[in-house]
Amino acid sequence: MCGIVALIGSREAAPQLLEGLRQLEYRGYDSAGIATLDGEGLHCLKAEGKLVNLTARYEQHGAPGQCGIGHTRWATHGKPEERNAHPHLDGSGRLAVVQNGIIENHRSLREDLQAAGVRFLSDTDTEVIPHLIARRLAELQASGRSADPALLLEAVQQVLPLLHGAYALAVVWADVPGALVVARRQAPLLIGLGEGEFLCASDTPALAGFTRTILPLEDGEVALLTPLGIELYDAAGDRVQRTPTLLSGTEHVADKRSFRHFMLKEIHEQPETAALWVARHLPQGSGGPLVALPLDDDVYAGVERIQILACGTSRHAAQVGAYLLEQLAGIPTSVFYASEFRYAPPPLVPNTLTIGVTQSGETADTLAALAMEQERRRAVAD
Ligand code: GLU
Repeated sequence: MCGIVALIGSREAAPQLLEGLRQLEYRGYDSAGIATLDGEGLHCLKAEGKLVNLTARYEQHGAPGQCGIGHTRWATHGKPEERNAHPHLDGSGRLAVVQNGIIENHRSLREDLQAAGVRFLSDTDTEVIPHLIARRLAELQASGRSADPALLLEAVQQVLPLLHGAYALAVVWADVPGALVVARRQAPLLIGLGEGEFLCASDTPALAGFTRTILPLEDGEVALLTPLGIELYDAAGDRVQRTPTLLSGTEHVADKRSFRHFMLKEIHEQPETAALWVARHLPQGSGGPLVALPLDDDVYAGVERIQILACGTSRHAAQVGAYLLEQLAGIPTSVFYASEFRYAPPPLVPNTLTIGVTQSGETADTLAALAMEQERRRAVAD
């Protein structure tokens, strides 16, 4: 899980971007970076390690502009080092992209771009994106289009279908410093609506101190943000209108309390969290079902076996779950590493319930494994 923030408005973007990234620190990261835009061009700063390193760079070099993007990276492709930190730029250094997730077909895209003379500066899957968008922008401009926010939106919309995988991303281009394009597929992204400004982020803690009015992007959507407003489009490119919602209370604030780091806090919170879960899902009294999950009964009808897909700590929890399912429900249950299931799934067997377990709800391997399993079953059903 990484964090994305993006801001467009009428005040200096960098301090708000850094604060937003700080609020997303609970997600874990190995490096961080920001890029801002002003009349002079793009200003990009990156640093390995904790945010204090990036903040020190900012204090030393500055990053002027009222529009910008920021990222905390959790490396999937390429070592956690500065040159692999986001934002990634196109060859001209005028277009910048931050991305969360994995571009599965990055290798073939990279080879095509390299064959066309593009030089890559990182080992990431992400770096193909700025080059693809820049190439599309150049093609559109060669056909007589002028650089404006609509052009950037169109170039991004035309590149997204080339990307396979799960992502949330934000794009800025120095030729149109008053525009920001964001998009998501199978990774979260929310837009916070301020007064004459918009802040996008992977999760609500980054927005909570900025605004209570939010517009979560739906899967496949793309948004063009300018200081004047939001244009929202679905995956087919059709304009979408949706009413923003309100964030409630303080539950969205990720607070380390007095703990040294988030993992320690989560470990200490386990008894409280387990009690909450039990109260919510184990009905009081006798006579009812042993466990009441918010699913329709027909989901369970006829289930002969269960497979659980998970990674890391979620996989440990899944093993306990498998034990309970076998002992209490009497249904044979297997637990798979989602990351391996993706590449070597067992043969399809009818009446199998597949459950994905992810602590964050965003684990890329687990989401991709579930999507693949769904696709496999659909193919057999057709
Ligand atoms: N796959 C990208 C990378 O390795 C993004 C990882 C992330 O979600 O932080 O740079």
